[in-house]
Amino acid sequence: MKIKSVLCIAVVSACGLASIGVLAAPVLADGDEPHWDYSNQASWGALEDTRQTLPPLMFPHATCSIGVAQSPVNLADQARSNSLNLLSVNYRTDTPDFYNSGHAVQVNSSEHYKGTLSIGKDVYPLTQFHFHAPSEHVIGSQTFAGELHFVHIRDDGRIAVLGVLLEEGATNSALQIILDNTPHSAKTHNPDTGISLNPRSLLPRDTKHFYTYAGSLTTPPCSEGVGWYVLAQPLTVSAAQLAQLEALYADNNRVPQDLNSRVVTGNVK
Ligand SMILES: [Zn+2]
Repeated sequence: MKIKSVLCIAVVSACGLASIGVLAAPVLADGDEPHWDYSNQASWGALEDTRQTLPPLMFPHATCSIGVAQSPVNLADQARSNSLNLLSVNYRTDTPDFYNSGHAVQVNSSEHYKGTLSIGKDVYPLTQFHFHAPSEHVIGSQTFAGELHFVHIRDDGRIAVLGVLLEEGATNSALQIILDNTPHSAKTHNPDTGISLNPRSLLPRDTKHFYTYAGSLTTPPCSEGVGWYVLAQPLTVSAAQLAQLEALYADNNRVPQDLNSRVVTGNVK
């Protein structure tokens, strides 16, 4: 999961230093963050921002290493509950921004988009969604072909992510629109296609059965306090679509993290 607004904290402080002429360290290749990728995920927490001199700012992704409520996790050992808050998906048609984030195929909601996810009485606006291949969450020994993360960020900073596992099967026409309109260059937007898309088309039929736990962003800075809701029923996408997705980004999955004292709750049979 990648959330630009969180990373902007680092950008703003770096820009502030530059403007008053004390930015002596070499400019990082990425421009706004220490470079990370999936081949060095075990050391995300140790990546150093060489522009900074204060320890908390020198290691902006420290939570990836020292956090105790990290995502993804193995969902297999769910504690069954019949009293979970109901999920109510209220996504609407949007004319979104098709975005190549440099780490994933991503779709950003347009500025005035009104689509939401309700969890009980709490309402979360859909900010963006993006894809991982293979899946990040696993169920026992089972890894899925891919995983879709619907990221919801409220004005008060609370984050909820709806995860959808992907498996090979029938073609999904909404995914095809996304694949055909995602730029091939990293960190490139395609906001003006005028194409209408309802993110609801990327949900399986059953949205009642899910796993839930308290976790984190699965990409640096790995911030915690994220509410996770992973649907039990996978969404089917075709083999050709998986190949097209993987041609853009393959193996962009963080490995499962320790549950520590956490419990995965669920209403999955
Ligand atoms: Zn993600």
